[in-house]
Amino acid sequence: MNTNLRFDNTEIAFSQKSSPQLRKAYMLFKIMGSPKLVSLGSNLALFGLKARLPFVSYFIKSTVFQQFCGGINRSDCSELVSNLNHSGVKAILDYSVEGQESDEQYDNKTDSIIESLKTVKCNDGEAFGVFKPTSIGAYSVFENALKEGATDKTKVAFERIRKRYQMVFTEAAKLKVPVLIDAEETWMQDAADLLALEMMSTYNTEEIVVFNTFQMYRHDRLKALNAWIKKGKKNGFKVGAKLVRGAYMEKERERAQKLGYDSPICKDKKATDENFDNAIRMVFEHIDYCGLVVGSHNESSTLLTSSLMKERGVKPGDSRVAFAQLYGMSDQITYNLAAHSYNAIKLIPYGPIRHVLPYLIRRAEENTSVAGQTGRELTLITKELKRRRIL
Ligand SMILES: Cc1cc2nc3c(=O)[nH]c(=O)nc-3n(C[C@H](O)[C@H](O)[C@H](O)COP(=O)(O)OP(=O)(O)OC[C@H]3O[C@@H](n4cnc5c(N)ncnc54)[C@H](O)[C@@H]3O)c2cc1C
Repeated sequence: MNTNLRFDNTEIAFSQKSSPQLRKAYMLFKIMGSPKLVSLGSNLALFGLKARLPFVSYFIKSTVFQQFCGGINRSDCSELVSNLNHSGVKAILDYSVEGQESDEQYDNKTDSIIESLKTVKCNDGEAFGVFKPTSIGAYSVFENALKEGATDKTKVAFERIRKRYQMVFTEAAKLKVPVLIDAEETWMQDAADLLALEMMSTYNTEEIVVFNTFQMYRHDRLKALNAWIKKGKKNGFKVGAKLVRGAYMEKERERAQKLGYDSPICKDKKATDENFDNAIRMVFEHIDYCGLVVGSHNESSTLLTSSLMKERGVKPGDSRVAFAQLYGMSDQITYNLAAHSYNAIKLIPYGPIRHVLPYLIRRAEENTSVAGQTGRELTLITKELKRRRIL
């Protein structure tokens, strides 16, 4: 392991946070430790926003929204981006609108992704473009497009989605701005993967502009990653791999049980961790044909990546390898990586509160259901509050 890199320096980790901000984060992570409170809060938030109760919106804005989102629009995030940049951390600004439903909305979203690529190009503080497949096409189309009985309407809608992908990546390739494609639930992911692979074969022949997300809590993803790398080597394109563990575990397991098929998720956390780390090892075996974004708050996987970089002679700032954490989580990893000149990135979602609510609920649940995570954040914040002598 790379012994120089450590994540216990809370002074570096929280240098951007004032003491009142830290105290607030402390309270928030304490509350999120309780599954009952998270479940109650999520239901109240969903109901309150639907009923347009103003105090609910205010409450969300001053708690979870402030912790995990950069603001309502891009300009709200600009001070945050420049503060991050000061510490050597780059940003990915993600307009996290979920639940769009019309072609007009998908076209608008495509235009806004393309516009954002131009901003990324001009702004040194931003590293990647990003989008979620179902933000530019209907969920049901992704779900049904590859099925044998897909209707003509679905096929036509899928063609429109393909065109939107092409528009995004034509611009990305022209500007040389890499773009991350998020991964979602397994039952829509095959169609999204098909498009991502097509885009890679067209646009990743020289620079890597297309990064697909591999959710390593899925036991079939290591094999898939291997197949993609092989295909890339054979056909002359590179594979951009964003590795994450995956955010929809409960939903995946519940559906598999309900419909009576084998769960696509690894049998336990240890198996997911091994799968994730093996994916990192696999990418490094083919590092000249791959780009890697390690999207994780896991210290051990981060250390493994840094030691493989050292072993393979990949320098910390090498453009082939980046580390990304979600805004509001694991500052000890992001800022300590940046302090050691690694490509350290914060993914910052933004958007109107009612649109980012599903994202916020996922973050709250992640910090509840994942053993250790809340403890980890709380322990670090507590340590820093004590270091500042305010706890
Ligand atoms: C930059 C970035 C981009 C992201 N993009 C996506 C995306 O496109 N799609 C997506 O789905 N998620 C995405 N995520 C969210 C990500 O999946 C979660 O943040 C991540 O799973 C948390 O795990 P971790 O690697 O931080 O490590 P840890 O906190 O060590 O691991 C927690 C994760 O392990 C897995 N796990 C926990 N318990 C079990 C169990 N019993 N059995 C099997 N597995 C278990 C789950 O995936 C859980 O989330 C992204 C995260 C980041 C940082």
